[in-house]
Amino acid sequence: MSFSIDKNGYYGSFGGAFIPEMLYPNIEELGNSYLEIIQDPVFQDKFRSLLKDYVGRPSPLFLAERLSNKYGCKIYLKREDLNHTGAHKVNNTIGQILVAQKLGKQKIIAETGAGQHGVATATVCALMGMECIVYMGEVDMARQRPNVERMKLLGAEVRPATSGSRTLKDATNEALRHWINHPVDTHYIIGSVVGPHPYPDMVTRFQSIISEEIKQQLKEHEGREYPDYVIACVGGGSNAAGAFYHFNENDQVRLIAVEAAGQGLSSGHSAATTNLGKRGVLHGSMTILMQTTDGQVVEPYSISAGLDYPGIGPLHAHLFESGRASFMSATDQQALEAGIRLSKLEGIIPALESAHALAALEQLEFVGNDLVVVNLSGRGDKDLETYIEKGKY
Ligand SMILES: *Cc1c(COP(=O)(O)O)cnc(C)c1O
Repeated sequence: MSFSIDKNGYYGSFGGAFIPEMLYPNIEELGNSYLEIIQDPVFQDKFRSLLKDYVGRPSPLFLAERLSNKYGCKIYLKREDLNHTGAHKVNNTIGQILVAQKLGKQKIIAETGAGQHGVATATVCALMGMECIVYMGEVDMARQRPNVERMKLLGAEVRPATSGSRTLKDATNEALRHWINHPVDTHYIIGSVVGPHPYPDMVTRFQSIISEEIKQQLKEHEGREYPDYVIACVGGGSNAAGAFYHFNENDQVRLIAVEAAGQGLSSGHSAATTNLGKRGVLHGSMTILMQTTDGQVVEPYSISAGLDYPGIGPLHAHLFESGRASFMSATDQQALEAGIRLSKLEGIIPALESAHALAALEQLEFVGNDLVVVNLSGRGDKDLETYIEKGKY
């Protein structure tokens, strides 16, 4: 089991680049140059200094004592919620915009579902003075007004995707079409460890800062680098990939990925991909996705917009198949309760995505000295309406 891809961009039998011929030049340019670009010390200096002074890294690793008492173990929270823009997504958009500059691109496109990746992209485009177009389904634009306004305030153009179900997958199609028509001056910033090679590997490398820091911080707090558990929620899988990365080679560290069960695994309203899905091609890579018997993508559902995705990245498909990571799920209700619990026990209101990771604490059995790290991928301000409407506190 390894986090490294082979030369064709495969983790085991998952990954690759399943793309229309007209995208070959873009993908090839990126695939041939991304490693050299991001391993260059000058690039690393820029990336690290922006993470420090703009994003506010390193994000703290906080010993949650009241939560620890409740579960009978020692729980640390990795505070990605304290990043600029309120989640881990900005680690990736900073990295990719620097890659785009290095490739000589002047324009950025992105797709967004709930608008969080769109906001993280619009943010770094403003920072770098680059033109930004974000494709978003018309239905999502109506549901996520505040994020649409944030993107506009940051200077981005938000283009509605008006075909199909007018949601994320249609926005993705529009973005790809745009890229095919503007291959030379435009870079496409994908928001998770999904898409054709080299995106999953590139995004994983940018997010791996999370586990790099956890290792150093655990060493300071506990005198050891390796915890017994690392727990993260999985939509496409980028915060989990970043939180797992530097622990993968140590089999003693249990990696726990938590998917959104929505209204229940058998309710027909779920996003628990490994539970409900099968092997297939989604957004340019071979992975596991929720599909009908004739291969149509099933519309996913979760209370948290960030987990509302019908697949997982190829790295996670491989972690699942090989058994290296354990996949669990939490329902809307369980996530809401876990989010309210953290708010009352520690004074931290988590994003509903991150609350799914916290809900796994209820399902695991710990022994006395277990050292547990939960990746708190984002903050809950954006979810206040949902907490008010559906939560009981
Ligand atoms: C987008 C998002 C996620 C899900 O995306 P991954 O790529 O699976 O990490 C999780 N948490 C928050 C706060 C998000 O914004």
